[in-house]
Amino acid sequence: MAPKEFIVNNGDHDGRHKKMKYIGAHVSISGGVENAPVNAAKIGAKAFAMFTRNQRRWSSPPLTEKNITGFKEQCRQHGFDTSVILPHDSYLINLGHPDPAGLDKSRAAFFEEMTRCEQLGLCYLNFHPGSHLNKLSPEQCLDRIAQSINLALDRTTGVTAVIENTAGQGTNLGFRFDHLARIIEQVTDKTRVGVCLDTCHLHGAGYDIRTLGAFEKTMDEFDRIVGMGFLKALHLNDSKKDFNSRVDRHASIGQGELGMTPFEFIMNDARFDNMPLVLETPDDSLWEAEIRQLYGLIR
Ligand SMILES: [Zn+2]
Ligand SMILES: [Zn+2]
Repeated sequence: MAPKEFIVNNGDHDGRHKKMKYIGAHVSISGGVENAPVNAAKIGAKAFAMFTRNQRRWSSPPLTEKNITGFKEQCRQHGFDTSVILPHDSYLINLGHPDPAGLDKSRAAFFEEMTRCEQLGLCYLNFHPGSHLNKLSPEQCLDRIAQSINLALDRTTGVTAVIENTAGQGTNLGFRFDHLARIIEQVTDKTRVGVCLDTCHLHGAGYDIRTLGAFEKTMDEFDRIVGMGFLKALHLNDSKKDFNSRVDRHASIGQGELGMTPFEFIMNDARFDNMPLVLETPDDSLWEAEIRQLYGLIR
């Protein structure tokens, strides 16, 4: 089924601006980043996430001219605008690392990832804020994360740092909206900082989205504490774990504790138009069907 579209008059350009849902998945870059848009198109995705390098290693060879032109060409051919592409950084990076050596290493790697996004002409870099590892107070760690973001933004142009809310597993921060707000407050360039909300992480962190009333309350709280204007993307994942478990285990759409209901709200809510809505569900053989199923929820 093709994505449903509707036209609204929001005073843009000629007064007519196409609004729609851009659903995709976190696709593989095996063989080169230029394969990501091809992999996304194959499963009927209208958006995608990707790593820009091997996420399990600290260093990777630089992108080649072939990678860069190939990536841009494939995006153009398959109709992916940069506004619907959400690169994700390496899980090794901890921008709030308590130790100077660990912090330096993380900041250098994050800067390198920002640079890779810049080279690919991308406008976002999505990342988990960081962990205090029981060596810093949450506040100290959050302040350190904000400074890390400032350092990266100072040295790059055009790429927005997109902070992801977490489930709050272990010593990971970013599971409360006020954590996100405290970071954003200290970022100097507010035009280049944003948030990606992950549905599984919301559930794990104790933000209920399972009924319409609860979903609206959670979104109102996000708007009040962080601001809806900072929302740049969603990660669409069901959760294997209970509400407020503080555990991060993704389930396929409709097969976990969330069920289909929250996704039905999201698909019919204009606040989530024109931004990447990305699956990070565990079974990639289901992604094509999950994308179709999500588009089918649009009334
Ligand atoms: Zn996520
Ligand atoms: Zn997760």
